[in-house]
Amino acid sequence: MPGTLEKSATRLALGDLTLTALSDGYLDIPAAYFSNVTPAEQEAVNPSTRFGANTWLIETGTRKILVDAGSGHFLRERFPASGALTWQAPEKAEERAAVTDIIITHMHADHIGGLSLNGSSLFPNAVIHVQATEWNFWTDAALLSAVPEDKRPMVHLIQALAKPVGNQLRLHRGDADLGNGITLLSAPGHTPGHQAVHLSAGAEEMILLADVVVSDALQFANPEVRYALDSDPALAVQTRKTLFDRLSADRIPFAATHLSTDRFGYLETRGNGFAFAEV
Ligand SMILES: [Zn+2]
Repeated sequence: MPGTLEKSATRLALGDLTLTALSDGYLDIPAAYFSNVTPAEQEAVNPSTRFGANTWLIETGTRKILVDAGSGHFLRERFPASGALTWQAPEKAEERAAVTDIIITHMHADHIGGLSLNGSSLFPNAVIHVQATEWNFWTDAALLSAVPEDKRPMVHLIQALAKPVGNQLRLHRGDADLGNGITLLSAPGHTPGHQAVHLSAGAEEMILLADVVVSDALQFANPEVRYALDSDPALAVQTRKTLFDRLSADRIPFAATHLSTDRFGYLETRGNGFAFAEV
């Protein structure tokens, strides 16, 4: 059932919850990152396609819950328009200290770059919610030497960003109730412990998909399209299809990290695939 959405909303009230989209900028992704595409699909994103970089703030009466922390300043060399949230800025210290929880959908650097800086947590008062599978995968000391040479800088960065928040963790195993109508939904494939977020209040609900879908230009119309950074592309496709079916069948408003818009919308069936309809 639809939430109380306003037209073109980037803010949604769901019972006592308020959800606000916080854009961290955008990233231009090369067409070569997509596979299992037709020539026409390839052409549609050639030479690159623009990903948004959405994060969200959920406010309850007493909690301020961030969903992901953006990329900080860590990806700017490659993606100059990333890291717009600048959580690391000293003038944001008070705002950071008020954050009670951070849900980390997964540990790619575009989602955890804003968590810590120079070995210190930037959100000292927050409980950080991650899937145990995700945390254990990325922080495994053996991972660095197990991955190909070209992936090592990424793993090294993720481990450096994660270490300072190791004492703030709440590790979850599968779906988990965080209270206030907020539930973590296990959604693996993009990474081993990738999770989405389900919000509900009475009969109203909404879902933050995180990276269940990465390209709105390709994967709504064709959920089978694969992405180079998916750790298990076949599982990512399966998770995407399951959640797309649920979103369209129940007409659940949703958002996703890399949509080219920071607005909420609905998923409608179109042909053999789907289309995004902004609220
Ligand atoms: Zn991402």
